[in-house]
Amino acid sequence: MWDFETEPDYQEKLDWVDAFVREEIEPLDLVLGDPYDKSDETARRLVRPLQQQVRDQGLWAAHLRPELGGQGYGQVRLALLNELLGRSRWAPTVFGCQAPDSGNAEILAHFGTDGQKQRYLQPLLDGEISSCYSMTEPQAGADPTLFTTRAVADGDDWVIEGEKWFSSNARHASFLIVMAVTDPDAAPHDRMSMFIVPRETPGLTIVRDAGVGTESPEHSSHAYLRYDGVRVPGDHLLGERGRAFAIAQTRLGGGRIHHGMRTIAQMRRAFDLMLERAVSRSTRTGRLADMQSTQDKVAESWIDLEQFRLLLLRTAWLIDRHQDYRSVRRDIAAVKVVMPRVYHDVVQRAMQLHGALGISNEMPFSAMMVDAQVMAIADGPTEVHRQPLARQLLREAEPGEPLFGSGHLPSRADAARAHVAARLEHLVANA
Ligand SMILES: Cc1cc2nc3c(=O)[nH]c(=O)nc-3n(C[C@H](O)[C@H](O)[C@H](O)COP(=O)(O)OP(=O)(O)OC[C@H]3O[C@@H](n4cnc5c(N)ncnc54)[C@H](O)[C@@H]3O)c2cc1C
Repeated sequence: MWDFETEPDYQEKLDWVDAFVREEIEPLDLVLGDPYDKSDETARRLVRPLQQQVRDQGLWAAHLRPELGGQGYGQVRLALLNELLGRSRWAPTVFGCQAPDSGNAEILAHFGTDGQKQRYLQPLLDGEISSCYSMTEPQAGADPTLFTTRAVADGDDWVIEGEKWFSSNARHASFLIVMAVTDPDAAPHDRMSMFIVPRETPGLTIVRDAGVGTESPEHSSHAYLRYDGVRVPGDHLLGERGRAFAIAQTRLGGGRIHHGMRTIAQMRRAFDLMLERAVSRSTRTGRLADMQSTQDKVAESWIDLEQFRLLLLRTAWLIDRHQDYRSVRRDIAAVKVVMPRVYHDVVQRAMQLHGALGISNEMPFSAMMVDAQVMAIADGPTEVHRQPLARQLLREAEPGEPLFGSGHLPSRADAARAHVAARLEHLVANA
C-alpha cells in the first residue's frame, strides 16, 4: 500500500516544529557558540526553556524507543521531523537528537550494561553531557580493517595505545566511544572491540583540532587524538569483545539516513533562496526568473530535491517495515551516494544565481558546499557505498542466453511466434 500523506495529528506537530525552529531556534545559530559545549552557561539558560517546550510537545529525543524516553515514532515520522530540524545548527540539540550523541546513545542502549547506561547513557539522554565517537585513524578511515590502535588487557583493566583522527567534538565530550584492536590474530572483522573512555583519563590528549573548509581554529572541532597508555577498567568494554564492527553498523546505519533527512532542510533553504533571488534581481533584459537558464536551474533543482526526498522517505519506510538496518543496507547506501551530489548541485545553482554575493562569506552557500562534500566523506566515502549496492544488484541478476541475451528482438520474435503458433493455427482453421 502506498500513502504520501501525513496523519493530521502528526502534521499539527510538524507545523508547530516548523514555526518553532524558524522563530525561536534559528536566531540562536547567529548568537550562540558550539551546541556541544555544555559549560556555556548563557547557552544553557537560553536553551533549557526551549528544550522544555519540546518535551511538553512530546518531541524530545524522538529517535529513541519509548523505554528510553523517546516516542518510538519510527523512521518516516523522524524523517519528516528531521527535514525541519536540519534548517538550524542548534535545533537537534534543542530536540535532543544531535549527532554523534544520538548514535552513541543508540549503541549504549543496545549493548551497554546497566552500570554503563546509568553512568553514561542517562546524562546523555538528559542533554547534560556531550560524547564523541572515535574510530577513524590518521592512516585509515574507509577501510577499518587497517586500524591499528590497540587495547591490551592488563589485570582487570584495558590499556589503549594509538591515534585517532577526526574524532568530532572530543574537546567538549565527557566520554568517547573508541574502537581498538583486541584480537589481532582473529578474522579481520572480529579483531576489534569498543570501549568507553572518560575524557579526563590520563594519557588521552588532543594533538590538535582540524576544521572543515575555511573554519577558523576556534570553530575547528575534529580532533586528532593520541591514546598513550590510556587505562580504563574492564567494565568499560562496550558490548562483547571482538564485536566492534557489528556494533558500529548498528550506529552507522541510522546515522547515515539521519544525515540525509537533515540535509533536505539545507537543500530546501538553498532552493528557497534561489527562488527569491530569481524574482528579485533583474538585468537589462528583465528578471532572472524570466530567463530560460534560470528556469532550467529552478526546474532541475526541484526535481533533484523531490527525487532525493522520495528515495529517502521510501528507505525510512522500509526500515520501519523490516525493523532492521541491515536488511535495508542497499537502500541506505543509495541515499548516502546520491545525497552529496544533489546537495552540491542545488547549492551550486543557488550560489551561481547570487553572483558575487553568493560566493561571499555573507551568505551560507560556501559552508553548504563544504557540507555537501562532508556528506561525500563522513560515515564512509561515496565509492565505498556505491560498490556494495552494485554488487548486491549484480548478485541477484540472472545470466541470459549466452550469445544475444534476453533483449534480442529477432530471438524474442521467434519465441513469440512459437508461443502463439497453435492459437494462430486454430484461428485460421476456424476463420
Ligand atoms: C566532518 C567530518 C566529521 C567526521 N567525524 C568523525 C567522527 O566523529 N569519528 C570518526 O571516527 N570519524 C569521523 N570522520 C571521519 C570519516 O568517517 C572518514 O573521513 C571516512 O571514513 C573516510 O576515511 P578517510 O578520511 O581516512 O579517507 P580514506 O579512507 O583515505 O579514503 C580517501 C578516498 O579514497 C577513495 N577510496 C577509499 N576507499 C575506497 C574504495 N574501497 N573504493 C574506491 N575508492 C575508495 C575515496 O575517494 C575516498 O574519499 C569524520 C569526517 C568528516 C569529514
